[in-house]
Amino acid sequence: MYDIHAIYFPPDELSSVFLPVTTGCLYNKCAFCSMYKGEKNSEISLQDIEKELLNGPLYTEKVFLTGADPMSVGYKKIKQILKLIKKYLPYCACVASYASIRSISKYTLEELSILHEEGLRLLYIGFESGRDDVLKLMKKGHTVEEAITQAKKLNKAKLQFNTIIIYGIAGEGESINNAVATAKMINKFMTKRIITMNLTVFIPTKGKERLIEVKTLLENLEPKQPTIFDTTHPTNIIKSEGTLPYDREKLINKVTRAISKKAISF
Ligand code: SF4
Repeated sequence: MYDIHAIYFPPDELSSVFLPVTTGCLYNKCAFCSMYKGEKNSEISLQDIEKELLNGPLYTEKVFLTGADPMSVGYKKIKQILKLIKKYLPYCACVASYASIRSISKYTLEELSILHEEGLRLLYIGFESGRDDVLKLMKKGHTVEEAITQAKKLNKAKLQFNTIIIYGIAGEGESINNAVATAKMINKFMTKRIITMNLTVFIPTKGKERLIEVKTLLENLEPKQPTIFDTTHPTNIIKSEGTLPYDREKLINKVTRAISKKAISF
């Protein structure tokens, strides 16, 4: 048996069936993250995963693999897990999971294509920033170039992913530059959804500056396909959602109105 201490999941996966694949975080070095500090990292055995599935609701359509980075268990095991899901939950149309640029770099394009065919349909990946100095300071463990390379590989494999980014991460006075660099990085690949999170670090950016960062992002994103821009995560100081490029003006107007409100002080 295994112990599960905490399960983190994206709000969109609230209605999915959770299938534990790892506990703790294998990497556990990101300077901004305390989610798994003090928690032992381990892989759930295939036998235990099969036991979970045996008791799973037969008619479920969505499964979310839980753990900081379930893709870190490697191709062979993920493929076996997908086969077990197919066997026990035959109506499941979408398996989703958190992943990291580091773990995706271990998979070949062919392997990712096979996993897509086996039912892996959506990854949530922390890109965080489009600036190498910020990624280094945050000990993220990947560079902007590596992130773009892995994202393009996922595009070729037709494996959809959501791009998680953090505003406020570059510190005071750096927001516009961070937003422009992050938009430039995202413009190099296709992503289903851009999910923003708000973070306070070192010399924190003021509420207004963080909103200007969101606005600058919106002004600079040039998606190659319709892409959802989503600031509904609970950490955000403004909650909105729309599809780029169609809703760009509407989204920008909402942020602009918030910026001009004198009452804003975060
Ligand atoms: S890889 Fe994810 S869970 Fe692990 S420390 Fe970094 S942000 Fe936290």
